[in-house]
This record gives sequence, structure tokens and C-alpha cells, in this order.
Amino acid sequence: MGNRGVVGLPLGLFLLASPLAWAADLQVHHPKGPLVQGDLRSLQVTASEPLTRLDARFRELSLPVRPGGKTFTVLLAVDLETPPDTYPLEFEARGKSGRRYRRRVRITVADARFPQQHLTLPKAMVDLDAKTLDRVRREQTVIAGIWKKWLGGPYSWRAFIPPLEESVEVSSEFGLRRILNGQPRRPHSGVDYRTAHGTPVRASNGGLVVYTGEMFFNGNSVILHHGGGLFTIYLHLQGYRVKAGQKIVKGDVLGWVGATGRATGPHLHWGANLRGVRFDPRRLLQLSLP
Ligand SMILES: [Zn+2]
Repeated sequence: MGNRGVVGLPLGLFLLASPLAWAADLQVHHPKGPLVQGDLRSLQVTASEPLTRLDARFRELSLPVRPGGKTFTVLLAVDLETPPDTYPLEFEARGKSGRRYRRRVRITVADARFPQQHLTLPKAMVDLDAKTLDRVRREQTVIAGIWKKWLGGPYSWRAFIPPLEESVEVSSEFGLRRILNGQPRRPHSGVDYRTAHGTPVRASNGGLVVYTGEMFFNGNSVILHHGGGLFTIYLHLQGYRVKAGQKIVKGDVLGWVGATGRATGPHLHWGANLRGVRFDPRRLLQLSLP
């Protein structure tokens, strides 16, 4: 093995010293042009021989990899609050022959220029009492635990469909930042579709129900895992007809549009998450997956 001498060196140091011809052995196919905050892309990685293992890292996050003989697929999501900059995307692979590969590409993240909305509301409507605050924190902990728990397969990374059959107006954009009484709130991590109470909400893809429940802000909620730490999220439902642990087929009705939780009217909040990274769920509809 020609690389024995550098095993254990930090990856960055190693890459500085690696011969270019060697790095080029691992081909990374990705769409050209900068990504924006809240983006999602699929990348195909190939080598001159079938790979047995591939690891990909971006901004401290281990990215999900779907194995596939000569071509491995990697999903890269950019959190909506990632500061615009250029970041390394690092790959380490092992081929069938036992040979090791490393490659680093640079990914530029551009400012998505999300909209802002300033609102002034009576203080009592904005501030939560201690008991409610406690509940909200508990719910946030449960959700954060879901992103950490579900990482493996099976992978349902096939074409995704919108959660509503009819295309309806977006009433609140992805990334919208509300500034309530001068205080910036967490940015909107999904897309709101305003539509009638009782409209069926369907699964964007096959997967496993990993959460159902009623939360203070989100109301009746369903979260699906599609493999590799990729999730879709359906909030403010009038009701749902699935339960945690249930396997779902793409297009299955999960529940119905409602206004439960903190909602001013009936709408579906559709969100997506990749291992804790919040991205625009509509990017799922544009994914090119082999
Ligand atoms: Zn929403």
C-alpha cells in the first residue's frame, strides 16, 4: 500500500501532499454552479474499479452514501443558516482491490437572500409562560434525537412527489425570517401551502414513520424517514392515520390538512431534513437519482 506512511495524518494535510494524478482517480460528478443556503444535491462518485466503501464529509457532517457497485450516490444538503463561503467536501473511499482513494472538491455556498418579515405583536402573544416553554424545549429535544437516531437504510431515494395532489399557493416561504417585536426568530424551515381543512396529505416517498404526535407549535405532526438520515416532515395536520414504526409507500395518505398548533389558518407545513440539516423540501422534487 503506497499510502501507509500517511495514515493517521489529518486529511487536510494529506491532501496538500497528495499527487494530483492520484486524486483524479476518484471522479465526483456534481452539477456545476454555486449552491445556495437550503440547497440539496445528489452527487455520483466513481472510480476505475468498483468501490467497497465511501465516506463523504461536509462541514463536520458525515453525508449519507447509497452504495451501488461502481457508482455511489451521495446526498449533500446545505443548512439554511450556513454562512455564505467556500467549503471543502471531502471523500475517502476503498476499492475492491483494497486501494484507498481520497479526494477533495470545493463547494461554494451563496446567500439565498431569504425574505424577512417584521411584526409587532402584544408581548403576551410572543412570550411563552414557563410551563409552555418547558414543553417546547422537551419537544425540540425529541425532534433533535430523531435526526441522530435514524441514519441507515433501506434507501427510498427515488423520485419524490409533492405532498398535495393539487398545486396550491405558498403562504409562507422557506427560509422566511420573522422578526417579532425586534427579536429575530428561528427561520422558517419548511414551505407552507394554504389549502382547505381536510385536504389529504400524502407521503412524498416510501419510508418509515418515525414520529407522530401533537406538538405546541407544530400541532399534529408526522415525520417519515427515507433512509440515510433523509426525512420529510408534515405539520399542523387536522389528524393523521399512521403510527410510528409503520412502513409507508410513496403516495400513501398520511393525514389531512388542518390548523393545529400555532397556525393562523389551515395549511400544510412541508419540511425536509438531512441528518439535522434543514433544506428546502422542494429540492427533493428536482433531485436526479440514478
Ligand atoms: Zn410553516
